[in-house]
Parts: sequence; structure tokens; C-alpha cells
Amino acid sequence: MRQVRPVFRFKKIVWWSTTTCDYDCVYCSPRDKDGKYRWPTAEQKSKLIDFIKHNSKEVNKNRTQLDIMGGEPTLWPDFMNFCEEASKYTSVFLSSNASRTERYYKNIKPGVIDDLFLSFHPEKADPEHFIKIAKIMQNKTTLRILILFFQPYFDKCLKFYNQVKEMIDNKELDIRLTVQRVDVSGEDVRRAFLKDLNKEQEKIFLALEDVRSKFSPSQRSKEYNKIKEKYHSLESPAFLVDNQEVDGQHFRNSKLNNFIGWDCYVNEGNVIRVSADGSVHPSVCGITKLKYNAYNDDITNFIDEFKTLSPVTCDRLCNCATDIKLIKKVNSLAK
Ligand code: SF4
Ligand code: SF4
Repeated sequence: MRQVRPVFRFKKIVWWSTTTCDYDCVYCSPRDKDGKYRWPTAEQKSKLIDFIKHNSKEVNKNRTQLDIMGGEPTLWPDFMNFCEEASKYTSVFLSSNASRTERYYKNIKPGVIDDLFLSFHPEKADPEHFIKIAKIMQNKTTLRILILFFQPYFDKCLKFYNQVKEMIDNKELDIRLTVQRVDVSGEDVRRAFLKDLNKEQEKIFLALEDVRSKFSPSQRSKEYNKIKEKYHSLESPAFLVDNQEVDGQHFRNSKLNNFIGWDCYVNEGNVIRVSADGSVHPSVCGITKLKYNAYNDDITNFIDEFKTLSPVTCDRLCNCATDIKLIKKVNSLAK
């Protein structure tokens, strides 16, 4: 049977730490910057650390990741203490807009942040300040710089790109320009993805989306089955290289990330998403939600919840490189 599965055992927690940010980028989703969630309380922080410790205990530390995103995580006054504690059990990856002071970044102890993604948001970011922060951090961590290449700031972004190349003394530096699109027409952006699907897949995508928007979670399984029956003649997308390492970026670039209708074993437990309210999902895509809440519950009472291996039917494009590596088995729509 065709399968996608992880090459080795790894444990990753993707933590959307806050929806509070000191920037207000026009291309940013409101749910990432609406200020609804700030940061965990001391008690919630302690529960989250317990969960991180529990989650990483079966694997070597270099096969663990706590990937922290926001909002802007560094605005939390206790953030670096939290990272120091977490780094005893897991590698820590951080995405930040580099807006904090030079002193803040100088005070970060070496070895606490393993990977740092500094994102340059041209509407607000000050190029000179950004470069100073990058210079401070380049010897303390693996540094990556992401330039959000937003068309109205074309010149600023390009100039900044060249400045970084000249001024940062790091031959290994990973610096990328990422094109940002903003939907100015009011068109449903979600449907813009449909250009990557063929007609038959498009029908299924829309049908599955309708189920998600019109039916309650308890009714969805029955509705999904109806769609499976209706599209039984569909062929399984031919894309798998069994037993060969899967590169998530390659999958997306080659548009092989369409697992709609596939049985996906997100519950296998390699990847956990913790949202800014502490809710927990067994994949970055968030297709299902566990009862366990990482801020409010004691992990020792919920260990069994992570042992369930029932697959879910994928109903969306798999756009996260980490999710792409989760176990999936042959297209259930083609069974
Ligand atoms: S810095 Fe990031 S989180 Fe903040 S508004 Fe910009 S894109 Fe959104
Ligand atoms: S989007 Fe979610 S459900 Fe679909 S294949 Fe990826 S991880 Fe699985």
C-alpha cells in the first residue's frame, strides 16, 4: 500500500504562543494579530513545560522541536525564562520580527534558541535595527532571515536584501524573499488555491469545504462518507516514493501536497499544535482537536488520548512541511 510516513521518530510541537503583536502588517491574518490572546499565566506556563517535558522524553533532544510562533512571542515579559526552561527538554525554534531592543537580544543565552527565523516586515521594520539584531544573534543560533517581499515595498525589500548580504558576516546565512499577496478584491482567498487542483479534485475540495462549514463535527463523518461514495471513480493521486525521504518543500513545489480524501494518521503523535488558548491538535493543520488543553490540564491525566490511532479523512491541502511527513495511507476516495 502506498504510504507517506516519517523517516525517523521525531517530536514537534508548533506553538502559536500569542495573537498579540506590535506590528500590524496588512498581509497578516487577523487571527495572528487581533490581540485576543496575550500569554500564559505562571500556572499555565508550568503546565505547558510539563507537557513539553513529557512529549520529548522518548526521543533524543535533537529530534525534538518546539517551534514558537505568534503574533510576536518576545513581547511576553517572561518569554526568555520560558525558553530557558523549555530548552532543557527540547530544541527551541523561534520566529520573531526582531522588534525588541539590542539589549534584549544580547541577553539571550547561547544554546537557548537553536533556530531563529527573523522576519523582515517592510511596512514597520527598521533595516538598520534589524541588521544589528541579526549580527547579535548570528553566533548564538542558526539564523535565518525571511524578507516578506510585499509589492508596495519592492525597493525597500530589495535594498534590504542586498544590505544583509553585504553586512552579515555569515556565509551559511539562509536569506529568503517570500512574496506576500493581499486579497484587495474581496475575493475568497481560500479558493485561490484551487488553481492547483484539477476539475475533479476541485469538486471534491468544495464539497468537503461545504461539509466543514455546514455540519457539526458529529455529523461530518457521515457527510464525508457520502462524498466518498459519490466520487468513488476518482483515481488516487500518483505521487509516493515509498521508503524514500520525503521533502515537504519539494512536495509543495511539485504540487503533490493534495491529500484530500486520504486517510491521514495525524493522531500518531509526532506533531502537536498548541494554539494561543492552549488547545491541542494532533497536526499543524488542526483538522481535529483533543480534549487535553496544554494550559489548563495535567498531562498525566491525558496520556491515553495520545495513543489513539484512528485516521481522519483529509479535507484540505496539506501546506505545512511538517504535516506532509505525517503518516497517510492510500486515498480512501478511491477505495
Ligand atoms: S509581525 Fe507577523 S504576526 Fe505581527 S502583524 Fe506582522 S505578520 Fe502579523
Ligand atoms: S492537511 Fe492535515 S489532515 Fe490533511 S494530510 Fe495534511 S496533516 Fe493530514
